[in-house]
Amino acid sequence: MPTPAASTQPHPRRNLLLGALPEDEYRRLQPALEPVELDVRQQLYAHGKPIEHLWFPVDAVLSLLAVVEGEAAIEVATIGHEGLGGLPAFLGTTESPHDTFCQIAGTAVRLATGELRRFLGQDGALHDVLHRYTLATMIQLAQNVACNRLHTTEERCARWLLQTRDRVGADEFTLTQEFLAQMLGVRRGTVSLTAGVLQQAGVLRYTRGRITVLDADGLYEAACDCYDVIQSEYRRVMAAPEA
Ligand SMILES: [Zn+2]
Repeated sequence: MPTPAASTQPHPRRNLLLGALPEDEYRRLQPALEPVELDVRQQLYAHGKPIEHLWFPVDAVLSLLAVVEGEAAIEVATIGHEGLGGLPAFLGTTESPHDTFCQIAGTAVRLATGELRRFLGQDGALHDVLHRYTLATMIQLAQNVACNRLHTTEERCARWLLQTRDRVGADEFTLTQEFLAQMLGVRRGTVSLTAGVLQQAGVLRYTRGRITVLDADGLYEAACDCYDVIQSEYRRVMAAPEA
């Protein structure tokens, strides 16, 4: 079931990866973490160019776009406070095949890749947390493939809006129809129709690119069970191993 949305100024450790680090390790990492306010459409790194930072969203939402015939075409992943942008840099490569943009404006903290390597060389929990996050990402990508084949646009739209609400931590957020269409892999006209159905059911309001979730439980009912699968798998994978 969806949780109540919070609205206070977010702490960097709202990012679940930073939140998973032991307190003393987070304090050692903190001086290297640079808070940044991200704007919509701000590009964080481009395909074929070096990844210079890892980006930990606090309440911003990032979008990974696959490049087809030289142009960023289809969104393949959305990243919020549960994750980070720049995973290839952790996995030992310097470039990504994807373009990464900010999709919903907000706060993030970034860590220079040089600093990342320095911290990974120390005996801490960061390596293990990022390793497990890599697996959580693979599970989510696989679930998205199944979801795209099996579930209706309305179910996928409801699921995606519910996940976005969790990531932003608020019932209201700005989202253009163009972005929503890109995420769902459908035409803008289809997005209007789908949002219209959810609006008529009284679960949300969508005016001038602003989404207001009026009934989170109703949105949860409208979403496919990929929402629960992704959440429970994330919790399972990220749970710290028994000491
Ligand atoms: Zn689904």
